Amino acid sequence: MRAISNHLPTAELQALDAAHHMHPFTANGELADKGVRVITQAKGVTLKDSEGNEILDAMAGLWCVNIGYGRDELADVAARQMRELPYYNTFFQTTHVPAIALANKLAELAPGDLNHVFFAGSGSEANDTNIRMVRHYWAMKGKADKSIIISRKNAYHGSSVGSGSLGGMSAMHEQGGLPIPDVHHINQPNWWAEGQDMDPEAFGLARAQELEEAILELGEDRVAAFIAEPVQGAGGVIVPPDSYWPEIQRICDKYEILLIADEVICGFGRTGNWFGSQTVNIRPHIMTIAKGLSSGYAPIGGSIVCDEVASVIGGGEFNHGYTYSGHPVAAAVALENLRIMEEENVVGHVRDVAAPYLKQKWEELADHPLVGEAKIVGMMGSIALTPDKATRAAFAADAGTAGYICRERCFANNLVMRHVGDRMIISPPLVITCDEIDTLIARARKSLDECLEALKEQDLLKAA
Ligand SMILES: *Cc1c(COP(=O)(O)O)cnc(C)c1O
Repeated sequence: MRAISNHLPTAELQALDAAHHMHPFTANGELADKGVRVITQAKGVTLKDSEGNEILDAMAGLWCVNIGYGRDELADVAARQMRELPYYNTFFQTTHVPAIALANKLAELAPGDLNHVFFAGSGSEANDTNIRMVRHYWAMKGKADKSIIISRKNAYHGSSVGSGSLGGMSAMHEQGGLPIPDVHHINQPNWWAEGQDMDPEAFGLARAQELEEAILELGEDRVAAFIAEPVQGAGGVIVPPDSYWPEIQRICDKYEILLIADEVICGFGRTGNWFGSQTVNIRPHIMTIAKGLSSGYAPIGGSIVCDEVASVIGGGEFNHGYTYSGHPVAAAVALENLRIMEEENVVGHVRDVAAPYLKQKWEELADHPLVGEAKIVGMMGSIALTPDKATRAAFAADAGTAGYICRERCFANNLVMRHVGDRMIISPPLVITCDEIDTLIARARKSLDECLEALKEQDLLKAA
């Protein structure tokens, strides 16, 4: 077989890709017709494609390349670890230095008594661990009936059978027999789309109180845990009203429900603190981590677990684990990523420089005729596209029609901005500079202008 390299013409790479590569969350037949974009290199916040375009990646890959692309230190650490000990497991009374060091580092960084780490290969796997861990925790305490996990509609917790069940994406539940039993979904705190005439804070409180209603309806003796992202990511960067999280914490405390914070996106500086739980001021029993843990340089995830849960689980054998739990190369890369984040004060850069600047520029986009609300927490932002700001109307066209047009305009203007329905979202590398933020905003504004023109031309600027 001929070597497949970056030097082949784009069309040839596209044909080879279409022939044998099934893409995630993609209509592969359609993709083959459109032609896939081939990314060949990246440095800092900039991607390069096979046509030589230089694209500002305002999504940090998939919310993960927090320290930016092209950091040689991580490549060096990976090569060194592969030579020294490329693999060993942590199952049968064995361990290795990268797993020890990373678990200790995470216990130091995590708030409160979150002092114990169960490693996984991804966020999905970590949430599968969490399902089994919280149910087993209650069983160990003699309360095996406490097995229901409450989650939220439009939450994203991964794509395996378990984590996809925790998630509240209806399009995922329609395929493959999800959700598994004993997962219950309440409504999300999405004021823009669902708040109707309510004041945002009253709406936030009402949506939090749905947790209490669900516990009372299902029975306190049946509910094991509540899981949520501090700020929903893949659901469209839904920033909850300030009233939401204090009420959720009150309810979890009152009914002694375990609180799982899915920090896969919010963790490791994304919201301006090390963890999103600190930004929204909650005290989870378990945090799910992945993505920014290694800045995406190696696949690794995990659960950071509090003293109480770890001690109960440790009272017997927990029949669970992955071949790659604590993989030495991935753990070494994650550790080096955290070392760089501390040494370069990346969280401080977000909190004091990048996030305040981005917030100011991002919120100015709300002046654009196509933009309803512009929301942002730290380095994750969203704008809602609307044909009518005053009424917060959705478009008459299928959801995502306008968003897709906008995303295509962004790509044409060398900007990666993703659409979720008709919300446009960003989550740039945390190391982005103010100059680069200016470029991001200028390209976003140009793309919004072009999208507005396209919607007018196609007679799509109509309210539902
Ligand atoms: C991406 C994501 C996951 C799943 O992580 P994978 O590594 O893709 O399995 C889980 N939770 C949240 C909040 C995520 O954004």
